[in-house]
Order: sequence, then C-alpha cells, then structure tokens
Amino acid sequence: MSKTPAELVRPEILALSAYHVAPAKGLVKLDAMENPHALPADLARAMGERLAAVAVNRYPDPAAPALKERLRKAMAIPDSLEVVLGNGSDEILQMIAMALARPGAVALAPEPSFAMYRLSAIACGLGYVGVPLAADFTLDEPAVMAAIERHRPAVTWIAYPNNPTGNLFPRQAILRIVAAAPGLVVVDEAYYAFSGGASLLAEVGRHPNLVLVRTVSKLGLAGLRLGLAVAPRDWAAELEKLRLPYNVNALSMAAAELLLDHGAVLAAQTAAIVAERARLETALDRIAGVARFPSAANFVLARVPDAVRAFEGLRQRGILVRNFHGSHPLLHNCLRLTVGTSEENDRMTTALAAAVA
Ligand code: PMP
Repeated sequence: MSKTPAELVRPEILALSAYHVAPAKGLVKLDAMENPHALPADLARAMGERLAAVAVNRYPDPAAPALKERLRKAMAIPDSLEVVLGNGSDEILQMIAMALARPGAVALAPEPSFAMYRLSAIACGLGYVGVPLAADFTLDEPAVMAAIERHRPAVTWIAYPNNPTGNLFPRQAILRIVAAAPGLVVVDEAYYAFSGGASLLAEVGRHPNLVLVRTVSKLGLAGLRLGLAVAPRDWAAELEKLRLPYNVNALSMAAAELLLDHGAVLAAQTAAIVAERARLETALDRIAGVARFPSAANFVLARVPDAVRAFEGLRQRGILVRNFHGSHPLLHNCLRLTVGTSEENDRMTTALAAAVA
C-alpha cells in the first residue's frame, strides 16, 4: 500500500499552515493592502483591446524586454542593475530561498514581519530565525546584530516599510546590517510607493550582498501578479536559473506594459491613498481605546482593547480587516487596516468606533 502524505511529506511542511486568505464576498475589503481604486473606464477598455491582441497560443517571451523597460522607467532602475521578474514578489522571495537553501542554512528576519519570509524559508529547507522588534515595533538593532553573529544567516529579510507594522526601520541600521551580514540581505520594498521616497535602491550595486525586491501589487495591479528583484548582475544570473521559464504570463505582461505607460493614473491613486492615510490616522486618533502606530505604507496598524471582538464587530458591519491577535506576542490586540477610499475609511472608522465602544 502506498504511503500517506503524513508519511511522505517533510515534517516541517506538515507543521506549516497555508497562507490564509479570508473570504471577502460582500464585505468592504480592507484586509490585503490593495489599492481600492478601479482603473478609469477608458483605460480598462484600452487594456481589454490590448489583451485581445495577445497571442495566447504562444508562450510569453521570458526575457520580457518591453515590460522590463517599463519597470525600469517607472521605478528609476539604473542600467547597471538587473531586473528579474516574478509571479508576484512572493515568487522572488521563493527563488531567493531556493538558491540559498544549503543544508543547515538559516534565514533571518525581524518579527513581526511578512509571513512569507518564514514560509518560503521553511518550504525550501532553510531554518528560520525571527528576531523580535521592540514593543513599539522599532528595530532592535543590537539583537539583530547578535543573531547575525550567532546564526550566520544565508539570507536576512528586511521589509522597508515593514508589514504589518507599517514603519520604516532606520536606513543606517539597515546598511550596518548589510555590512555585518555574511549572507545576502534582501530589502523588500513592496510599499515603497507610500514611503515618501524612502528607498535603498541607490545602495544596490554598492554592496555585494544586497538585493532589492519590489512589486506592482500595491500600485494597483495586485491581480496581475508581477514582482521583481533589482539585483547586481551576479545575483540576477543565479536567480534566473531558478525562475520557471514562463513564470509571468502573456496577459499580465501585456496589461502591465500598457498600464505602466499610464503611470500617472497609478501615481495619482497612490497620492490619494497617502492623503487618505493621514485622514484615517486622524480619525483613528479620535476613537477612544484605539492606539495606532505610525505608517509609511498603505495600511495602519492599530491596537484595540479586544481585537477579536473588534474584528467581529467590523465584520458584522460589513468590513473586513486583518486581525493579527495571536499571530505574534508583540501584536496582541492588533488589527491591520488597509487604507481604502474616503468613503470606505469613513465607514470603517465609524464601525470601529461602534465595535470598540
Ligand atoms: N512583501 C511584502 C512586505 C508584502 O507585504 C507583500 C504582500 N502582502 C509581498 C511582499 C508580496 O506581494 P506580491 O506577491 O503581491 O508582489
């Protein structure tokens, strides 16, 4: 008789939980850091026409020169650096973990941070070391340095800004980590568009062990599944060996090319989200019992008296946010609130005030 999955699958995979996505049907969706704005109708129509012309009988061109050119222009990526495309930046993280998973190697990240750092490390056979942030979610630099010294990580993940806390760790501290780390340091700038220009892009190429990761997801194109590594030539060459030949599909490529040509539309939406974030923060500050943390991203982390009750209260009022209570000790009673449209944020803050009353 053949063996069961429980007998065959690696024990560390059996112990994992799949990345959780909550059902959102009928709810105001403020749980996943999506851009809440739809495409303007004329642009959506133009996209439809462009997609109709894609030869779906053919494999996409994996070199994707036109798309890479648009990304370079949109993100001011210099010609001296390479671009590696991923099916979302999630896939880039996985490629990096696959490349570095020697027997006994570990991945390290401050935590709480993005769940996929741990998940992709474990999935690829790396060990994982989480270094707790301070209680106010600032980076505990001495603890990170001590952990690097002790564990000699093959990869250190740093989200800049951090998810789910929303803050930016000090740039100089990150550069000190890059200098001290024996392995690769990956700075994940998924939320760069909301950070007021804070970025380590200019540092890539100046350190042999620094790779940057970005995505178009938070710009308003999450459904396309397109992320990228910005890397020195030698790192890019290794990642290319692990990239599945046609990982970005032809429809996503064509749509992204067109929409990045209309970058002003996405930039205006991003600017609107940043302005809304400030309005949302002011509204949260007026709700008794809610303490929110500073954000340089398109979401705000808030602590409430009872997160399970507040989360349920919001859901009953038609609003879905993300409850982090129970996921990490530092996140006790924390909800992550994605910045929505003005109307959605008003609905959410009104509902939250009622839910914590
Ligand atoms: N990095 C961080 C820090 C994120 O928060 C996310 C999305 N939640 C990702 C990467 C992955 O984004 P995507 O796969 O959509 O590019």
